[in-house]
Amino acid sequence: MGKDYYKILGVPRNATKEEIKKAFRRLALKYHPDRNKSPDAEEKFKEISEAYAVLSDDEKRREYDMYGSEGIHGRYTAEDIFRGADFDEIFKDLGFRSFNEIFKRFFRDFGFDFGFGEEEFRDESFWGKAERKGRDIRYDLSLTLEEVANGVSKEIEIKHLEKCSLCQGTGMQPGTSLKKCPRCNGRGVISDMRRIGFTQIIQTTTCPTCKGKGVIINTPCPKCKGTGLEKATRRIIVNIPPGVDEGTILRVANQGDATKGASPGDLYVVVHVKPHPLFERRGKDIIYETKINFIQAILGAKVTVPTLNGETELRIPPGTQPGTIFRLKGKGIKGSWRRGDELVKIKIEIPTKLTARQKELLKELSREFKLNN
Ligand SMILES: [Zn+2]
Ligand SMILES: [Zn+2]
Repeated sequence: MGKDYYKILGVPRNATKEEIKKAFRRLALKYHPDRNKSPDAEEKFKEISEAYAVLSDDEKRREYDMYGSEGIHGRYTAEDIFRGADFDEIFKDLGFRSFNEIFKRFFRDFGFDFGFGEEEFRDESFWGKAERKGRDIRYDLSLTLEEVANGVSKEIEIKHLEKCSLCQGTGMQPGTSLKKCPRCNGRGVISDMRRIGFTQIIQTTTCPTCKGKGVIINTPCPKCKGTGLEKATRRIIVNIPPGVDEGTILRVANQGDATKGASPGDLYVVVHVKPHPLFERRGKDIIYETKINFIQAILGAKVTVPTLNGETELRIPPGTQPGTIFRLKGKGIKGSWRRGDELVKIKIEIPTKLTARQKELLKELSREFKLNN
């Protein structure tokens, strides 16, 4: 699942920023397109650049550690992933072309295989540039060990942004039309003329008011005030497979916040496992500690022990030693391969209060064993 940025850069997960930078510099020297012309190197260079862009940014690194590269790709466009990293400084230092040149080439000629596809641009209806995907949301879900053991379907309530139900996300009052953008006069671009000496420089940029469309909303939707979005509370069912661990993340596609002109974010359900009053978990196995009397240990006994599905009887053979572990096959947590076991650990209790009769019998026993006391 996803890419391992640490592995790509060959650094440990707890690497410092300096170590990450050092590793990237070393790899960039090897794979930078100015030095290495092989097609494999290009792929490799993209990969190390992406890894460095994410791991050198505290916020992105934190998100990556939590959600993996899929989380990063869901949350940022390719441009956003790379923005902010000090590539130029590094490349200049190594004597290579600036990252911007390389960067442009990457996205124009080759494209990245995530969140920056052509579809996203074709897909948008009205809004100029495709905006980034909606925000992902997180939901923390606590489960009991019993639920984890067998898997469970949980209904959870989430609050997220949806497309406005009145304007269907357009932001326009229904029945109204668009009007020509006054800023660019409908051209979608604004030109700025400057003169340096005898040279005239005309710089053209996309109109920020209409985002290049040339038209703007005449009457904003009264419900969402033109944002095209509204808050909504939804109950959704999350299917938890058996055997999940503390910190397992389940992704529910498109249940994050909606956004204009792009797909909604995702919902990430973070699983927490409540401590169990009786059992300790070890992977797919559970451990239960039971106390038996020393006489039961010597003579053998039948004891009742709890399991994740009710109680069961356990035979203690005569001569059982303290710390002996009995394995109840298949009474643990369900996994994809097999079901774990319940391990019953025997603790032997030595009574501290005895009746006169018990004392007498034990003394007799002691004499029988020829013990000095
Ligand atoms: Zn609306
Ligand atoms: Zn405009």
